[in-house]
Amino acid sequence: MARYIFVTGGVVSSLGKGLSSASLAYLLQSRGYKVRLRKLDPYLNIDPGTMSPFQHGEVFVTDDGAETDLDLGHYERFSGISAKQSDNVTTGKIYSDILKKERRGLYLGKTVQVIPHVTNEIKDFIKKDIKDEDFVICEIGGTVGDIESLPFLEAIRQFSIDVGSNKSLFIHLTLVPYMKASDEIKTKPTQHSVKELRALGIQPNIIICRCERPIPFGQRKKISLFCNVSIDNVIETIDVKTIYEAPISFHKEKLDQQVLNYFKIKSKRQPNLLPWKKITKTVLSSKNSVNIAIIGKYVNLKDAYKSLDEALTHGGIKNNLKINLIRIESDYLKVSEVKKKLAAVNGILIPGGFGKRGTEGKIAAISYARKNKIPFLGICFGMQMAVIEFARNVLKIKKASSTEISKQCIPIVGLIDEWSKNGKVQKGTSKNLGGTMRLGLYPAKLKESSLIKKIYKSRNINERHRHRYEVNINYQKNFEEKGMSFSGISPDNKLPEAIEIKKHPWFIAVQFHPEFKSRPLLPHPLFSSFIAAAKKNK
Ligand code: GLN
Repeated sequence: MARYIFVTGGVVSSLGKGLSSASLAYLLQSRGYKVRLRKLDPYLNIDPGTMSPFQHGEVFVTDDGAETDLDLGHYERFSGISAKQSDNVTTGKIYSDILKKERRGLYLGKTVQVIPHVTNEIKDFIKKDIKDEDFVICEIGGTVGDIESLPFLEAIRQFSIDVGSNKSLFIHLTLVPYMKASDEIKTKPTQHSVKELRALGIQPNIIICRCERPIPFGQRKKISLFCNVSIDNVIETIDVKTIYEAPISFHKEKLDQQVLNYFKIKSKRQPNLLPWKKITKTVLSSKNSVNIAIIGKYVNLKDAYKSLDEALTHGGIKNNLKINLIRIESDYLKVSEVKKKLAAVNGILIPGGFGKRGTEGKIAAISYARKNKIPFLGICFGMQMAVIEFARNVLKIKKASSTEISKQCIPIVGLIDEWSKNGKVQKGTSKNLGGTMRLGLYPAKLKESSLIKKIYKSRNINERHRHRYEVNINYQKNFEEKGMSFSGISPDNKLPEAIEIKKHPWFIAVQFHPEFKSRPLLPHPLFSSFIAAAKKNK
């Protein structure tokens, strides 16, 4: 039977629960165990799909088309395991399922309550489709003390009783701040947070203490004593210089060993940390760099393009280069300033996006990249913008645009009503905005003589999608006659998946999101190739 590890957070948010869970998953997996990672989010949205990146950072998309929390991206990148729809749940989803059952009369006249109905639903989620996993790591979003997370904490408390303490383990991640004025490390916030958790019936077995500097033995002892945890299970995690150091640092602090000790497991082998050591060294010590401009609506928000930032760094690792990201807010990119602002860049990237705001700045930047032969990568909305730019300036269709931007335009990009998956027709448009896009993994075939085929080294690819609009295939001939090739297309020949410009050193745009599949130990070929082209353009 699987062993369940619950990870909660205390004191403040953003302590790195996701990264800690992902690193632990890597360490256990590398020792030969089968691991699954799950995220339970206490907010009321059904999924983060309709939330602005300003609210919750990037929306991460899984192979099977779930719009999930960005922590699932960390999980995939560190563990290499592709997450599934069933690995992320929210309060909204739990309640929506319960209310549907209630309307169908499935509660047989009973009063539907948080305990046991909500907590049962959460417990069912935790163990759903777990088969031969050795460990299931469940991260609880939010911070202990939040009203919203109470049913989740109650559910994991019950869960631990149901499966027994030999099959369940609680890890609590807290902040141990350093006070400059008194030159002291403070344990009180941790004590309070654990007190709060214990009041809910959960005694943490391991406490991970996030701190700026090493925690002296005396303070560790204090945490151990006041929080009722053995001193070996007070694990410190000092800020790392790069996230790729996290698995190394957690292993040094014996997190994986203590987890195994708790479950009384004699480890089959030590984890392999060599790949992480290698990439940490590359990231920290590569001397050369390239300047990549990323032009989007949310560039100033750290987590809004998380997977993209990561994928670019992976491309840098592959080419032994540091990436200087020049973040340009598309709203403020005046057409007249494009040349000046992009003068020093070696590559230009337009990421995914929604809505009209900032589109003219993006189109002007694409025009600049096309004419000045600067390596360009367009992703999703970035591809739609690249096609519109070409239609307006090369095909001379002045009113070319997307129906997402203007209803009066010539729709080079427009809403499609259907597409096919596994031979079945899927319907696209609906009044609801949530969960109605083309989502998840779809196949595409690449043209024999194209650059993109050379990059992928394959004619057939599968990539993750998240969009509602499509480039209009009826214009294919017009574009190809003028030098923009539709180099990737859906198997039924209806949906353009990738474009490139033949007479340009590196101008590729794709309708899908390759960044979701890039991993530090396995950089995505499109990003590696884009960065290599940017290097050539120095
Ligand atoms: N807004 C565009 C669409 O819905 C692109 C979406 C995206 O870039 N992810 O098609």
